[in-house]
Amino acid sequence: MKNEHEVTFTRNLINRRVIDDLKNRSTMGMYFYIAITIAVLFVDGFYQRHYTFSLIFLCAMVGVAIFRIAHFYLFDKFDRLSRKVNRTVFFASVFTTATVWGLGFAYCMVQPEESVTTKMLMLTSTAGLGAGGVVAFIPAWSVSVAYIFVMVTPAVVTMGLLRIDIPLVFLFALYAIYMTIMASRGNREYWDALENEHLLRIRSQEIEKMSRKDSLTGLYNRLYFDEIFSMHFKTAARSGINLSIIIGDIDHFKPINDTYGHLAGDAYLESVARILAGTFQRETDFIARYGGEEFVILLLDQDKSETLRLVGEARLQIEKLRFQYYSHRIQTTMSFGVATAIPGLNEDKDKMFEKADNALYQAKNSGRNQVVVYEGEKRLLMDDVPGQKGSVFQ
Ligand code: GH3
Ligand code: MG
Ligand code: MG
Repeated sequence: MKNEHEVTFTRNLINRRVIDDLKNRSTMGMYFYIAITIAVLFVDGFYQRHYTFSLIFLCAMVGVAIFRIAHFYLFDKFDRLSRKVNRTVFFASVFTTATVWGLGFAYCMVQPEESVTTKMLMLTSTAGLGAGGVVAFIPAWSVSVAYIFVMVTPAVVTMGLLRIDIPLVFLFALYAIYMTIMASRGNREYWDALENEHLLRIRSQEIEKMSRKDSLTGLYNRLYFDEIFSMHFKTAARSGINLSIIIGDIDHFKPINDTYGHLAGDAYLESVARILAGTFQRETDFIARYGGEEFVILLLDQDKSETLRLVGEARLQIEKLRFQYYSHRIQTTMSFGVATAIPGLNEDKDKMFEKADNALYQAKNSGRNQVVVYEGEKRLLMDDVPGQKGSVFQ
């Protein structure tokens, strides 16, 4: 089955990532444009024979190359000012490059007296720069194709009209078509790779999420509890806020398994998890299944009295639960140990966990189905809290 992320991936959408790829891939070529322009104009003395044209071509080519290099480094700055204008400027400068080169190429190829060396230089340079452009703009197929056509069309058309080197005209037309096919293929592969990268990211996020969860109850697991406990403990210590840790253990759970079977036990665990999740609902409340029939809850910055009211409520709901499993009605209770404090900066979090665990042990030893609070200095009976069964001990 396809999940929603797979559906939401849009191919050929020119987003930030694609724009970055386009400018990163294409701007490097600008240094070559400058070098190749100089080579074409000066290696065989073309500039002496066509001085004015050479000057204009050199200035235009170097100018646009420098502009694109500068724009590359200032891209983010301009993008913050106006994304739309900035991107239009980028594509306009790309097509200016192709146009200037295309016109220079055409001019050079139609000079009847021009040397073979210069024409060869121009031909091979155009073929190379054109192919480079196609590869650079592969993320946007239409840009790739438009780029190569803008580069060769002026020469192909003027040479065709003036009937100069007709075989070359056909060769270059063929070259442009071949580049179009290659661009289409490269574009498909680029978007396949991008889609795979996207799916991989989604999958790894899902796997990461799954690795934090307990598969039976859908609550977090012990591994993730350890991580969150460390984090909450540090947060509470640094900010001087209260942290409560509540450990709950189902009373006489083994007989449920023994009497009704393991699946009935599993179903009962799920319903207890639902009660806990329904009771501790704040965004920062953290509930995990710690082990078999043990659950652990962390409450950050929660009143102590409110904490105890909530634990008492969970205890009462579980006591009242008559869980229907086929023809059986399952009922048991749950004991809770609570430690609640503003942790000291140098305190050990494991000590706090131990206190809650000791409190749970007390709850079990004092007859189960009760909440016991570890209070540090004093032992308090929780019977003072209306509707509560339980105690607070040192
Ligand atoms: P107490 O009141 O002292 O807590 O008694 P208890 O029977 O709940 O405690 P005990 O630790 O003896 O039993 C826990 C049982 O939980 C034993 C084990 O078979 C069962 N258990 C552990 N994990 C699972 C599970 O994932 N599913 C089911 N169905 N049972 C489990
Ligand atoms: Mg138990
Ligand atoms: Mg247990």
